[in-house]
Amino acid sequence: MIDLAGKQPIVFCDFDGTITDNDNIIAIMRHFDPPGWETTVSQILQRERSIRDGVGELFSLLPTSKRIEITDFAVQQARIREGFTPFLELCREHHIEFFVTSGGIDFFVYPILAPFAIEHDHIYCNGSDFSGERIRITWPHSCDETCTNDCGMCKSRIMRQYPADHYYRIVIGDSVTDLEAAKLADLVFARSHLAEHCLQTNMPYVAYETFHEISDYLRKEVVVER
Ligand code: MG
Ligand code: ZN
Repeated sequence: MIDLAGKQPIVFCDFDGTITDNDNIIAIMRHFDPPGWETTVSQILQRERSIRDGVGELFSLLPTSKRIEITDFAVQQARIREGFTPFLELCREHHIEFFVTSGGIDFFVYPILAPFAIEHDHIYCNGSDFSGERIRITWPHSCDETCTNDCGMCKSRIMRQYPADHYYRIVIGDSVTDLEAAKLADLVFARSHLAEHCLQTNMPYVAYETFHEISDYLRKEVVVER
């Protein structure tokens, strides 16, 4: 068992590529295929532009007249990673606080998560404005003065609201966008690019492919059975 030293376990879970099997933003772009999206995505991946700047640009390529079409597409193509429901039950049963920290956008994050009855204020994501001709992304959780990453949805800013002396902070993620959060965490569950980064930087992590593995690990190491 891990010694939590009386701290409250709290989970910060990524959305795209973690709760869902795929990245929903990429799926939307690939499907609606607005001219220029691939260049912008590769600039984000090469870190030539920040996530906030790049994602804002991507959605500005899409007309707001396609709102319903885009939302319906996003919801129907999303696949939830195996074991998510029992994992949420484990968190509820053992009073592990659960938060979604997503770099995705409200208009698809909330509908995709609707079947899971997660409290609205436990889901952090970016916002959207469909009042103009093109989709404008709003950034209610952008970086504070302690983060210079221009994240868009700043996961480390959210985590700092739950200080390390009171909380045992658990991060679940899949990509470089989870790296800053992982650096602050007591325990990291990583797959894909995040796992590669952890390996390269000697950051300890637990590998997962489904939420079953995460539940098993928490049951063995964190949860006290009563
Ligand atoms: Mg992700
Ligand atoms: Zn940030």
